[in-house]
Amino acid sequence: MLEDITAHAPVPNLSVKLGLYNDIDVSLPLSEICDRAVLAVKSIKHDYKRPYASYDGAVSQQLYKAQMLEARFHSALKNKEFVVWYQPKFEPVHKTLLGAEALVRWKQKDGRIMPPGEFLPVFEKDGLIGQLDAYVFEEVCIFQQFCLSEGIPVLPVSVNLSRSSIFGKDIVERYQKIADQYNVPVSCVPIEITESAFIRSSEVKPVADAFVKAGFELHMDDFGSGRSSLNGLNVLPFSEVKFDKSLIDYIGDAQGDKVLKHTMALMDDLGLRTIAEGVETEAQKEFLIQCGVDGIHGYLFAKPMEESEYLKLLQ
Ligand code: C2E
Ligand code: CA
Ligand code: CA
Repeated sequence: MLEDITAHAPVPNLSVKLGLYNDIDVSLPLSEICDRAVLAVKSIKHDYKRPYASYDGAVSQQLYKAQMLEARFHSALKNKEFVVWYQPKFEPVHKTLLGAEALVRWKQKDGRIMPPGEFLPVFEKDGLIGQLDAYVFEEVCIFQQFCLSEGIPVLPVSVNLSRSSIFGKDIVERYQKIADQYNVPVSCVPIEITESAFIRSSEVKPVADAFVKAGFELHMDDFGSGRSSLNGLNVLPFSEVKFDKSLIDYIGDAQGDKVLKHTMALMDDLGLRTIAEGVETEAQKEFLIQCGVDGIHGYLFAKPMEESEYLKLLQ
């Protein structure tokens, strides 16, 4: 079938993928039967060597896991099972604390901490991520309000905004309202947007502009991880660029070093602050200092930590 389809396709080099659902459970509605074939084909979406896949236990288990996560989402949100951890950010020469990034975790009933990689992709697909992002933002505002009221130094804590959240209805107004509710200046809660969101830069620009107009700082996350757009740097109102760990891992490689050095110099010239993410070694830190990096985020200095621990650090 595959050969036949490709041979007669009106496009050269067409890559066809098939999802198969055998042993059909006829009691299921037709839409679900089709969904299972679609699930099977999705499981090989990025596997260019496999032209077809069957719906099987593994696929259904994946689906089952996703459904379980979705089913538990609302009660988990209500019961505050999602907790915010803080990863400090430092100025590298004197190791002065610059602030932190808020990173979500899901605390399970048995105490296990589920990392975001296990649940965020599911919530990104089904759109629940918008509610989770807003929840994290609110928790960070509550934290900043606490620091303000207790006379603890208030340093910016950036929050991640997923690609789909950007296009949420009235996103800027909603975030502004949450910050106002806790009397937190929006400058204390910068927004991180991942580089890959800027492929649609013309659609993102009005939202980015509205955030900046409302007083928020925007940080470009994961810079250099994939489709970096220099054009984005021209037109979008960022104040900080976070270099992805994949670029930092190249430190020590002659070409990699040059890319990093010159890109950092370019950012500096553009008036953008630079942060290096995923710094794990002294050698990386030393090289980054030579490049004039403004801040470092990585296990070398600190891993993400619970709020109580971060509070101690601030104090
Ligand atoms: P990210 O925004 O790029 O966050 C940095 C990730 O790198 C964090 O993983 C952090 O723990 C990890 N990291 C930091 N320093 C090092 C290092 O030196 N070495 C290594 N190997 N890793 C380091 P984490 O916490 O697992 O978060 C993964 C991703 O999940 C985040 O990547 C972010 O994209 C997403 N995420 C986390 N919290 C939220 C949230 O509230 N909303 C949204 N939309 N996404 C979130
Ligand atoms: Ca981030
Ligand atoms: Ca990042």
